[in-house]
Amino acid sequence: MNADKRAIESLLGFWSQAGVDACFLDAPVDRLAQRERVAPKRAGAAPAAAPARPAPDLASAIEQARLLAAGAADLAQLEAAIAAFDGCGLKFEGARRAVFSRGVADAPVMIIGEGPGAEEDAQGAPFVGRAGKLLDKMLAAAGLSDRVFITNTVFWRPPGNRTPTPAEQMVCAPFLERSIALAKPRFLMLAGGAAAKAMLKRDEGILSLRGRWFDWKSEDGALQLPALPTLHPAFLLRQPGAKKRAWADLLTLTERLDRPERPET
Ligand code: URA
Repeated sequence: MNADKRAIESLLGFWSQAGVDACFLDAPVDRLAQRERVAPKRAGAAPAAAPARPAPDLASAIEQARLLAAGAADLAQLEAAIAAFDGCGLKFEGARRAVFSRGVADAPVMIIGEGPGAEEDAQGAPFVGRAGKLLDKMLAAAGLSDRVFITNTVFWRPPGNRTPTPAEQMVCAPFLERSIALAKPRFLMLAGGAAAKAMLKRDEGILSLRGRWFDWKSEDGALQLPALPTLHPAFLLRQPGAKKRAWADLLTLTERLDRPERPET
C-alpha cells in the first residue's frame, strides 16, 4: 500500500514539474445531470443548493459586459469592473483572480495575448511567467519596453492553460475594446493564433497571419487600428528556431512606430 502511495506521489511530482497542474477527461462531464441520475429528487427533500457558478446565456453575458465596460471612465475603473463581472465562466473554473494589464497606460503599442497562465494567475499581471520574460527581453532589445501596454483576450486563467474558447473571448471582448478606447494605442500587436483569430475574425493560422498588417475594427466600427499578428512567446520557447520571425515582426512594428507621420492632405 505504502509503495503504491509513493509511486503515485512520485508520478504526481513528475507531472507537476512537467507543468501538468489540472486533470481533465477527454470530454466534459455534466456532473449536475449525473447527480440527478444517481440521486433522483425525493418528494419533500431539501432544495438543492444554488450552483456556485451563475450561467447567463452568452448574449446576456456580453450585454452585461458591454454595460459594465461602458461605465468605466478610466483603466482603473475598467479593471475593477472586470474583477466584479461574473459573466465569464473562466472566473469559476479555478482562477484565483482577474488578470488585466501591465505596462504603460498611454503607450503607443498594445500587446494582446491569449489569456493568463499559472504565474499570471498567481501574480495578477499578464505575461510574467517564462513566456513573459522572453517577451520582455525581446521588447527591451527592440527598445520597446516603455512603449507597450500588455493585456489578453480573456482575463481569467483557462484551466490547465487550455486555449480560451471563442465564447469566452466574446464575453471578455467588450472589456478589451474599452481598454483600447481608453488607452488609445496607435498599434495593436497580437501575440499568437488565439489572439489574432479573435481580434481579426480570421481563420488562417498564425504562421500565415504573422508579420502582416491588418485593420482591426471594434464591434460597432467606431474604433479602427492597424494590428500586427506575431508568434506567441510560449511558442518561441518550444520552437527557438522561430525567434527570428518574431524578431522580424518586432522590427516591422518599430519601423512603423518611428516612421514620421505624413501630414494629412
Ligand atoms: N500567455 C498569454 O497569452 N498571456 C499571458 O498573460 C501569459 C501567457
